[in-house]
Amino acid sequence: MTVIWKASDQKISAGPAPGPGGMPQPAARRYRAVFISPHLDDAIFSCGGTIARLIEDVPVLVVNVFSRCTEGVRKYAAVLGAERRGEEKAAAIFLGYDAICLEETDAFLRQGSRRSIRRLFSPPTAADLADLPRITGRLAECLAAVDSDNLYVPLGVGWHVDHVLCHQAALDLASRFRGRVFHYEDSPYCFIPNAVRCRLDEIGHWAAAPLKGSLDREWWESCSHYLRSAVLCHVRPRPVRWAASVVVAAYLLGLMRQHRVDGDAGSAARRPRLSPQLEDISAQEGLKLDAMMCYESQFRTLFHGRSDCEELHRNYSRTLNDRDAIFERFWTLSREPHRCAGSAVRAGIKKWRPWYER
Ligand SMILES: [Zn+2]
Repeated sequence: MTVIWKASDQKISAGPAPGPGGMPQPAARRYRAVFISPHLDDAIFSCGGTIARLIEDVPVLVVNVFSRCTEGVRKYAAVLGAERRGEEKAAAIFLGYDAICLEETDAFLRQGSRRSIRRLFSPPTAADLADLPRITGRLAECLAAVDSDNLYVPLGVGWHVDHVLCHQAALDLASRFRGRVFHYEDSPYCFIPNAVRCRLDEIGHWAAAPLKGSLDREWWESCSHYLRSAVLCHVRPRPVRWAASVVVAAYLLGLMRQHRVDGDAGSAARRPRLSPQLEDISAQEGLKLDAMMCYESQFRTLFHGRSDCEELHRNYSRTLNDRDAIFERFWTLSREPHRCAGSAVRAGIKKWRPWYER
């Protein structure tokens, strides 16, 4: 079942009249921008300020990919029940955007082996890659049904497998999209020190990238941030939190080591050139936070509260620019690969690697 939220009608309908190929027809054909959101919340958490600004002029469409909710699923920080759909509806009404839910199954529910938080951040499996052409095809049909100049897709910061899959699908879509493609920094992962730079190193080359520190130092910086985060502080009782902290610290080290790119200048030059674009969302910050708080189940898990969320935005913005403002940052890739996802599957690649290494 596919669900479409049409802000102009203020109602959610299941299974709208399908278009060619069975795709739902978006609420309006002309959108200022289309945002691909791996889960119900990612577009707003990552780009809520930009969405609030764009929507002042022309409608915005959010396409939620892994949005299939199963009644009553709740484990660790993961809430995958029907309340997630209600949260999306509340955010869409509040900001006034249209949304489509493609109802692909969340990684947590997709495979038995994924039913641990740790495995959610493992590279895509062969089964994941086998699903990729279908997901890419559905997104392509969706884009073909609308008229839009700008496409916003996840960078894949944090390496959540569903975010990485959306990023991979988007690389393929970008080669066919006639407008501009922006890669957004997945939030709240982007608030973890070094997380964005690690991901940028992996997918492209940024000439103005800050100097890379030692793995030990970068791990400690990331670890210190994560151990103070709401996700871990919410673990009870305290001895379990201590044990979880040790496990998380060790896992984070493995994750950073696995994705660390230590190429020479030549290998950097072969990767796509990344160019940043800062959006000053100071005027929309309040709207963004209000919209984020519509995702109540996620917000209370990921943040200590509104002031914590504000502080994370403020602190992160200070690392991006000297101006006293709140920013969201987007990236453009100067050359996009062609059909990387499909070719990976056809070649039977079992072990996932960055596309530029294939
Ligand atoms: Zn997500």
